[in-house]
Amino acid sequence: MSDDETAKHGIYLDYFSTTPVDPRVLDYYLQLLKEVYGNPSSVDHDFGRVAARLIQKSREEIADCIACQPGEIIFTSGATESISLFLQGFTTAQSARLRRKIKVIASPVEHAAVLENLTMLQSAGVIEFLTLSVDQQGCIDLREIEAAAKLGIDLVCVMAVNNETGNIYPVEEIAAIASEYHTLYFCDATQAIGKIPFSLANLPDTVISFSAHKFYAPKGIGALIVDRAVPIMPLFYGGAQQHSLRPGTLNAPLIATMAYALQLAGLEQEADAGRIARLRDNLQLQLKSFYPQMVVNGDTVNRVAGALHISLPGVNNKQLIAHVRNTLAISTGAACSSGSERPSHVLKAMGLPADVIEGALRISLGRFTTEQDTDYALEVIKKYFSESILGHANCLP
Ligand code: PLP
Repeated sequence: MSDDETAKHGIYLDYFSTTPVDPRVLDYYLQLLKEVYGNPSSVDHDFGRVAARLIQKSREEIADCIACQPGEIIFTSGATESISLFLQGFTTAQSARLRRKIKVIASPVEHAAVLENLTMLQSAGVIEFLTLSVDQQGCIDLREIEAAAKLGIDLVCVMAVNNETGNIYPVEEIAAIASEYHTLYFCDATQAIGKIPFSLANLPDTVISFSAHKFYAPKGIGALIVDRAVPIMPLFYGGAQQHSLRPGTLNAPLIATMAYALQLAGLEQEADAGRIARLRDNLQLQLKSFYPQMVVNGDTVNRVAGALHISLPGVNNKQLIAHVRNTLAISTGAACSSGSERPSHVLKAMGLPADVIEGALRISLGRFTTEQDTDYALEVIKKYFSESILGHANCLP
């Protein structure tokens, strides 16, 4: 982040909520915006053909990055739309075809986009919705998935990486179990793509969703990757684009920009992850030595590099965040529920004590985080304590 930006808004450590657009990605996007403005469906002239060719090239690049077929990619406005299209579209189509409710089992720590779609579909009588359990680290038990699949589940939903704790879930094992019992696997890969190696090559019968703004591309573009044989009812009507599954004029520059950002992430992910993990580990260590009661939430063995989800028991996270908001951009939890008074459904499902939930902070690092940023974050948090000690003796570390 530039010094000017830092002076204006503080240090950005909320990469799970969204990422800044990488300057290389932005340059590419701006150039395409100027040059490629034809409607890709206007095949009667070159302007349209250039846009259509750019989309086709982008499909192939994305397919190469994640090992799917170019024709399996449905471009959407982002993960929420991809998730809604798949969960609503698949379960309604399948329920009409089979003339029964569709049995769905999902992890309780899924993103709200998954859980709220499933809750709505259950209320509408389309699905029977069952929930897996997680332990105090937010880990699932594969045996529970296997037991459910054995009993006849139509769809299992487990995300690849959790957007609060950063936990990495064993997607290959889940896909193998689901496939063995002819169950479809829906994997919300929004926080995985760009952060860890992710390939559909070892994920049979798996449908995934993601958003480009989590990997340094602009907002407003994402994808659903689904085999054409999977029945899906569209959410929107009125055009033949994308096999009428997601009609509407496609944004060729934005699609190509997503493909470019994905390729960059593929090339740089490993080096980025190593550097980011070192910064994260160091910040974690320093915070812990300053505040020994600090708890690190989630599965610290299997978490993505940028994730630092901590609880400072005895500290009110909302007060801390309100106090540091002009110097440090961190959050109490998922951006979509930030500002809500409800405690995180993720931490609740993990069965964490109330004071741990109350003191929870999601700090997330990314490509542009520097050592100066993490040092500064530590100083800001320490300063908060020294200033609040006067008023709140129980805040003392
Ligand atoms: N799924 C996960 C795991 C996420 O982290 C998010 C966003 O934070 C979403 C889905 C929704 O993504 P979007 O807001 O880009 O639609």
